[in-house]
Amino acid sequence: MTVRVGVIGTGMIGADHVARLTTQVVGSRVSAVFDVATDRAAQVAAAAGATSHTSWEAVVAADDVDAVLIASPGHLHPEQAIACIAAGKPVLCEKPLATTSADALRVLEAEAAAGRRYVQLGFMRRYDAGYLDVKRTMTDGVIGEPLLAHAIHRNATVPDFFRGEMSLTDSLVHEFDVFRWLFDTEIESVTVLPVRTSPLAADGMRDPQVAVLRMAGGQVVTVESFVNCQYGYDVRCEVVGSLGTVGLDNPRTTVVITAGRRSESVPADWQERFAPAYTVELQSWVDDLAAGRVGGPSTWDGYAATAVAEAAVQSYAEGRPVDVRLAERPALYTAGE
Ligand code: NAP
Repeated sequence: MTVRVGVIGTGMIGADHVARLTTQVVGSRVSAVFDVATDRAAQVAAAAGATSHTSWEAVVAADDVDAVLIASPGHLHPEQAIACIAAGKPVLCEKPLATTSADALRVLEAEAAAGRRYVQLGFMRRYDAGYLDVKRTMTDGVIGEPLLAHAIHRNATVPDFFRGEMSLTDSLVHEFDVFRWLFDTEIESVTVLPVRTSPLAADGMRDPQVAVLRMAGGQVVTVESFVNCQYGYDVRCEVVGSLGTVGLDNPRTTVVITAGRRSESVPADWQERFAPAYTVELQSWVDDLAAGRVGGPSTWDGYAATAVAEAAVQSYAEGRPVDVRLAERPALYTAGE
């Protein structure tokens, strides 16, 4: 079976996903696209052999669309995901599920009312070989009881429109999801600590920042966010257990040794660092759909990560720890996870 995918949003990641679904993923093809940037949508559609529609609603409704990939700006995700659920079409929704926890809850309630999963969240780190190895090592008990973790999330630079809060809602939302997943427990509270600001940060922007996450299991995670680090894209972490530690480093390609120095490259950006994970994520989504199921990170995961990001923004503004308050978890998201 070939899964025919409709794509909403053909910007940076939407266009990448169309290319992956067309050339790398087995068992899928892109049949329809929409973007308000009509020229870009037409180009992407032509390269994929897809129809460029005049609205996202038309993509959702199209007869030749079995499933939808949402890669529009985050505030549009709830309305678009809910429309897909109403149409009975499975969705891969890029992060974030929503920009407010109230909007995320609306998607959760729509899916819970439908009584089955439709939505997989685009938390691709869960498909990254390095993170999977960290998770396996923790689960196998190799480092004993996992107690705490330290994480680093650095970007070389960010666009002019990027603000300090976006480090929390757009970048660290991946860290919020990944530590919920690694420790298999919710984040109870978050504290965002301002740090001396880099002279290279945009006017009015606090960068770097440190977030301290207290997990419901008592573990503590410190996360550094530094989005103007200049030198590359650097995502690492170390989980500390009662018997040892497991660390995630940048994937190694080559090491240069010359003139008394040993050096290796750092990924330039998230596209380079996580390219293999995006492909595995999409292949897994398509394989699940072909088998008649939806798996991977759920709407609950998207909702919980959004709620943590919201608490982090409040902590950033008020300079104090903020508790994360979650709605009751519907039964749909407790079985088989
Ligand atoms: P982007 O380059 O700005 O692409 C978004 C596209 O959606 C733009 O072409 C935008 O057009 C278009 N758009 C605006 N309104 C729309 C509408 N009503 N319907 C359909 N399309 C509409 O942003 P991006 O970096 O690709 O990010 C898209 C989403 O993916 C965001 O939620 C982002 O957080 C997420 N993302 C996830 C990852 C990851 O690692 N999983 C990485 C990158 C991005 P205009 O530019 O004309 O507004």
